[in-house]
Amino acid sequence: MKNLLQSILPFDSPRHFVDENTRKRFIEWDKPSRQIQISAVTALTAVLYLIFTFLEKSWAPANVQLLMLQLHIFIIVPLLLTISLLAYKKRFYNYVMFLISIYPIISISCHAYITTKLTNFGPFLIEGYLGVFWVFVISGITFRYALIAAVISSIILIVSSYFLMADPDIYAIHVFWIFCSFSFGFLAALIFDRSRKAVFISQQKLHQLALTDPLTGIFNRNQLNITINQEIGRALRYEKPFGFLMFDVDHFKKINDNFGHDQGDKVLQHIANLLKDSLRENDTLIRWGGEEFVIIAVEVEEQSLAVLCEKLRQKIASANFGPAGKVTISIGATMYQIHDTQDELLSRADKALYQAKNEGRNTAIIL
Ligand code: GH3
Ligand code: MG
Ligand code: MG
Repeated sequence: MKNLLQSILPFDSPRHFVDENTRKRFIEWDKPSRQIQISAVTALTAVLYLIFTFLEKSWAPANVQLLMLQLHIFIIVPLLLTISLLAYKKRFYNYVMFLISIYPIISISCHAYITTKLTNFGPFLIEGYLGVFWVFVISGITFRYALIAAVISSIILIVSSYFLMADPDIYAIHVFWIFCSFSFGFLAALIFDRSRKAVFISQQKLHQLALTDPLTGIFNRNQLNITINQEIGRALRYEKPFGFLMFDVDHFKKINDNFGHDQGDKVLQHIANLLKDSLRENDTLIRWGGEEFVIIAVEVEEQSLAVLCEKLRQKIASANFGPAGKVTISIGATMYQIHDTQDELLSRADKALYQAKNEGRNTAIIL
């Protein structure tokens, strides 16, 4: 069965996300498009109900016409318009999902009630079939809630018409049409659900790829703006200081020249691994380009920044780089100062690094 489903669905289609964090991120990612869909669909459905009220209904007696008018105008249309308006605001998302999940049950119940009042109910039945399909495919309700709403709606339709349709053949074809709309709707909703998840996963992979340096596996330059802006925001809001380090491998060209590019690459990988292990979880290590790296070290004071620089310098200087032997780095570091722009921060660190190189390398300067 699983294989059959996999072959119907032409993509890698995870049913559930393995970890809770990914699931939460998916829900956040999914919200905006659902908000738009729900808002537009409920508005259109309300308009269609209004058009319905103006249609000639010679097939319905006057009292039932009045009943339809009342149920549609006083219950269904206001409920739809409320959902449509609330769906605009992200903070109402959970209420909207709740309302739009119970809406089909309310509207199908109204429909079933009206049907019991009609002798010539044929023209009216279609709304019920359309309703089930609407829940699954059109509404924008998430798959699980849509399934619950559609099952309850279908049961209401099947049970209520059982008492209405004296002819068993008519009842059988009626149930068959409900089954058709349910199964089409279910399959389409399942495919949509999985394709949304597959798109999310591939988008996440691309995002990850865009921020990762292929040689060392650490962040690349694209991550720098993101992290710096985040940290500047935190520093301004919560007065959390952070340190910015820029370092460059000393005489790296010689390593390439003497031992080949491959060995040069291995040195860069080894440096990245050594430093990754030396930093705290919230610190960010970025390959800035070539043999230059930067570190955004959060929640450090000027004194602990000096300790950190020394620790990193020693870590590299004392490591064994195989054929390349000993390798050293020069570090330029600075504390973020309130109202620094990103450029000011970078150029101060760059200046410190330049000074470290001038002072004979394998050293750290803090400006
Ligand atoms: P300094 O101490 O002044 O920093 O001298 P240096 O030789 O390290 O500096 P320079 O800027 O002259 O040389 C950097 C070298 O890094 C040149 C470039 O070919 C090499 N390089 C840049 N990216 C990579 C890479 O991804 N892999 C390898 N193997 N080498 C790289
Ligand atoms: Mg360099
Ligand atoms: Mg260098």
